[in-house]
Amino acid sequence: MVSVTLEVPGIGKYEQPTGLFIDNEFIPGKKGQQFEVINPTTEKVICSVHEATEEDVDIAVAAARKAFKNGSKYRTMSTADRGKLLLDLATLFEKNIDLLASVESLDNGKSITMAKGDIGACIGCLRYYGGWADKIHGKVITTAEGNFSYTKREPIGVCGQIIPWNFPLLMWAWKIAPAIACGCTVVLKTAEQTPLGALVAARLCKEAGFPPGVVNIISGFGKTAGAAIASHMDIDKVAFTGSTFIGRTIMKAAASSNLKKVTLELGGKSPNIVFEDADIDEAISWVNFGIFYNHGQCCCAGSRIYVQESIYDKFVQRFKERAAENVVGDPFDPKTFQGPQVSQLQYDRIMDYIKIGKEEGATVEIGGERHGDVGYFIKPTIFSNVKHDMKIMQEEIFGPVCAIAKFKDADEVLEIANDTMYGLAAAVHTRNLNTAIKVSDGLKAGTVWVNSYNLLHWSLPFGGFRQSGIGRELGKAALENYTQIKTVSINLKGAMF
Ligand code: ADP
Repeated sequence: MVSVTLEVPGIGKYEQPTGLFIDNEFIPGKKGQQFEVINPTTEKVICSVHEATEEDVDIAVAAARKAFKNGSKYRTMSTADRGKLLLDLATLFEKNIDLLASVESLDNGKSITMAKGDIGACIGCLRYYGGWADKIHGKVITTAEGNFSYTKREPIGVCGQIIPWNFPLLMWAWKIAPAIACGCTVVLKTAEQTPLGALVAARLCKEAGFPPGVVNIISGFGKTAGAAIASHMDIDKVAFTGSTFIGRTIMKAAASSNLKKVTLELGGKSPNIVFEDADIDEAISWVNFGIFYNHGQCCCAGSRIYVQESIYDKFVQRFKERAAENVVGDPFDPKTFQGPQVSQLQYDRIMDYIKIGKEEGATVEIGGERHGDVGYFIKPTIFSNVKHDMKIMQEEIFGPVCAIAKFKDADEVLEIANDTMYGLAAAVHTRNLNTAIKVSDGLKAGTVWVNSYNLLHWSLPFGGFRQSGIGRELGKAALENYTQIKTVSINLKGAMF
């Protein structure tokens, strides 16, 4: 059996593929192993999916290699037809938006409203890169008379992609869309916590007409299937989104195997800075969204909140009131803003940080405890009076927990905001253009939002400074990850030596 019948609210029964998607077919893993997928809202098993081990990675890579061969159906497609694969896939996502969003809510616990937003962003991303497929080209470079030189951007080849559980389908789209636009083939491993949506999307790839082997989707664990991808001798590039710790492991494995190209999108502890001249209601709304969106499970979550001292007390009071209005509960209720954390492990990690914050002497303004009795729910938690060296100010918590501190002026806040190993994102709230630009320029982060937060867009590059990553996803920048430059230099002058 490589599928099961499941039921989700609003959709009813649907057929959930559970096999490994290799060469356009759902198949069992070679070892015949399966693992359970847990519903974070009920803590009950949803179903089991087939598990890929090293041998299955080899099979998937062989399929991707075959599809990438010169002369294959995929390699001989026109660039416009290749783009159309992504455009048709986007249309299928659109047709299936309710199903895809419901599977995402079931598997990950995110609210259905947010899940629909994710699928909308997947559609945008697929269309955007569908549009790029026939616009990727090199340059003619003149060196001297009698020489004609040009560059081409060739697809990098077979790409291994390893994604996390916080945005299962969005990360799937961010990875697959630019790879296909550039003419690569893919072996993508989903996170073991959230394999379901990607398998439904795999079926849509087949329906959209992707030739066999172009997109292969495997479910499995990091230490086995993930590690096999990172160290595979026949994978040309690995793209990873996840923790900084595992990112380092991936890079080492890539280096010690075949020096495959590496892009990493890693952790963060992003500062969100509120100046006294900001529109306070708007700033509170963005600060609330910055940390509590997706239950704080965002690599770019605005988890360090710095508020200028003259408005600190007022801000904390009103932010607390705002956070108390966030509806926590059943992900399938359209009013819900925050569902459960993804797993028992994440729940425990976050609760540990909350305990540490209390022990370190920070003030719990709101939350700091479990919500309800069933499911991995944690109340939105705000710590105030947090000192710079406290763990809750320094370490990525990846949950609905933020730390607030005051600052005097722009110079001081830049100093403390930048005193971190991370550099993924940051935000500044002010009505003063000079402050906005000075602080944006001074922040060491790959993205700076001004008077907003989490406003990602497929056309805007996203990625980390420092230990938050290597390379940029999204936008035109992502095309660089999946192509390599070939220089062709033609001598028109005959023998020279
Ligand atoms: P988290 O701790 O939030 O689950 P990880 O960085 O551990 O984040 O996981 C992100 C992705 O990396 C998942 O798909 C996971 O299976 C994978 N992964 C974990 N460990 C490894 C590893 N050693 N090699 C390759 N991939 C891994």
